[in-house]
Amino acid sequence: AKVNGRNQASFFDPSMTRDLVRRREIEAELRLAVQRDELSIFFQPIVDLKSGKIRAFEALVRWFHPEKGELRPDEFIPVAEETGAIITLGNWITAQAARAAAQWPDDVTVAVNLSPLQIKAPGAALGILNALREARLPPHRLELEITETVLLDHSKQTEDFMAELSAAGVRFALDDFGTGYSSLSYINKYPFGKIKVDRSFVSGVNAGKKSEAIIRAVSEMALTLDMQIVAEGLETIEQVDAVRKAGCTLGQGYYFSRAVPDYLAGMLLAQEREK
Ligand code: C2E
Ligand code: CA
Ligand code: CA
Ligand code: CA
Repeated sequence: AKVNGRNQASFFDPSMTRDLVRRREIEAELRLAVQRDELSIFFQPIVDLKSGKIRAFEALVRWFHPEKGELRPDEFIPVAEETGAIITLGNWITAQAARAAAQWPDDVTVAVNLSPLQIKAPGAALGILNALREARLPPHRLELEITETVLLDHSKQTEDFMAELSAAGVRFALDDFGTGYSSLSYINKYPFGKIKVDRSFVSGVNAGKKSEAIIRAVSEMALTLDMQIVAEGLETIEQVDAVRKAGCTLGQGYYFSRAVPDYLAGMLLAQEREK
């Protein structure tokens, strides 16, 4: 294969065809996946770094495909976004997450990731409020995680969506903070109560003084603005200590727990309350 030049390889790259075929398959099968009961919502704890107590769970979707095995959301969420399937899928995810959270103690919230299309769909805010009502979950126990890319176009729709839900009591978190663009203006403009500092900063905490300084600065700002700051992707005790020292109040990551099925989330909470 080395004999072929680079140009030719890029035209007839068999792996590209494979990726395309897989994408098409995912696209077709995703539509049936909900009906076939192949999707589940898993829950990853978000922990108070002072007390060690679980304050929230982030809902993360999983697809257990009968032939392909477990598919990660990074593979199928983008496909669902492209085809528009994310709207139906997203509604289902929110409903499931709200239903699970309704079983937890009153002070534990559930965080749900939102895709751009979901926010711009007509009646998006109403759909979320309906899901909450059906699950009997008070709006303040739902937190919607939004990345900066959603806010890039500064649309009226996004503003209205957030204002409407925020007025109802729903909370918002700015996700993947530090990976995008001019985050500070978003914090100023939209009703975020929480900032989630991306994993890339956290895994740099040990090595680089720079990441630590950035986390410290963001923590100080969060404190002043009465916002909470979550460190994502904590895998080691050293990272936990470092972000705690830098001023983070909440943490999430494999050090505490991976995402687990809802019955295990319930068990983690029950265990905690026994102590
Ligand atoms: P995210 O919102 O940034 O979610 C955090 C991701 O980091 C999750 O991956 C989680 O399992 C992973 N993670 C948590 N702790 C650690 C750690 O200590 N180390 C490492 N290496 N990773 C950790 P996951 O579940 O594969 O989700 C990937 C992305 O897919 C999410 O990134 C989110 O953008 C998207 N996603 C997941 N579920 C949903 C959903 O229900 N709706 C939408 N729209 N997007 C979703
Ligand atoms: Ca998230
Ligand atoms: Ca994130
Ligand atoms: Ca992400």
